[in-house]
Amino acid sequence: MKQRPTFPARIDSSLSAAKTKAPLAVNLPQGLGMDSMAVRQRMVQKLAGQGLSDPRVLAAMGRVERHRFVDSALVNQAYEDTSLPIGLGQTISKPGVVSRMIELLCQGKEGKLGRVLEIGTGCGYQAAVLSEIATEVYSIERLRGLHEKARENLRFFRLANLHLLLGDGMLGYAQGAPYAAIIAAAGGDALPTAWTDQLAMGGRLVAPVEQRAAGGARGAGGVAAQALVVVDKTSQGLHQTILEAVHFVPLKSGLA
Ligand code: SAH
Repeated sequence: MKQRPTFPARIDSSLSAAKTKAPLAVNLPQGLGMDSMAVRQRMVQKLAGQGLSDPRVLAAMGRVERHRFVDSALVNQAYEDTSLPIGLGQTISKPGVVSRMIELLCQGKEGKLGRVLEIGTGCGYQAAVLSEIATEVYSIERLRGLHEKARENLRFFRLANLHLLLGDGMLGYAQGAPYAAIIAAAGGDALPTAWTDQLAMGGRLVAPVEQRAAGGARGAGGVAAQALVVVDKTSQGLHQTILEAVHFVPLKSGLA
């Protein structure tokens, strides 16, 4: 006969642990474990259809398993071109935006990128993609909870050229400078000077920046409209190009 639970009901600790911190094998989505490669290739084909053409970026997007960076409940959306919540009010960036920004970093450069600084590790997905196309990646996150989550997510990949840092990315990371490329996954109202200071000559920075048009352009919900900004550091100085509108989480200072 089935015994009725006493009150408070005793929960099998191994079961509850599996729920909160599932090992990778359990974490794999039903039906995605074996054929995630095919699903990813479809995503890459779609990105190519939208204009992504750099073979290095296409290959990296095809290799990095995005489903390992999202909660198990969202795994079935892992290869859709959408941002998804990763906790603490932050999001994993859309594959279309990740690949667009990395393609901009690679533009006009042959082979692998040199040292890259990423501001806003989040869950670590973009950092993993960057580690495929650069010799060295420094990725900095201000939220301890996400810094640790990224470390956990990335353990599986064993990326020896990727260094995760807990810190305020608005200050850059002087110890790793100069950088061939800097990429920000969070947008502020201006580019911190530390970033352009730490950029190598000939290097490129890609970041979302709030655009304050006459009258103060505001998007939905009163959020300042952002655009993708590219800055090239040349012997003649900094050359800035403003590209399409984007929507990133805000760049904030200090640790939390
Ligand atoms: N690259 C991530 C995107 C994460 S969202 C991905 O692949 O999914 C952007 C991240 O930037 C958030 O985790 C947020 O906490 C972080 N962030 C915002 N301001 C920051 C700062 N000053 N320094 C470091 N990280 C910052």
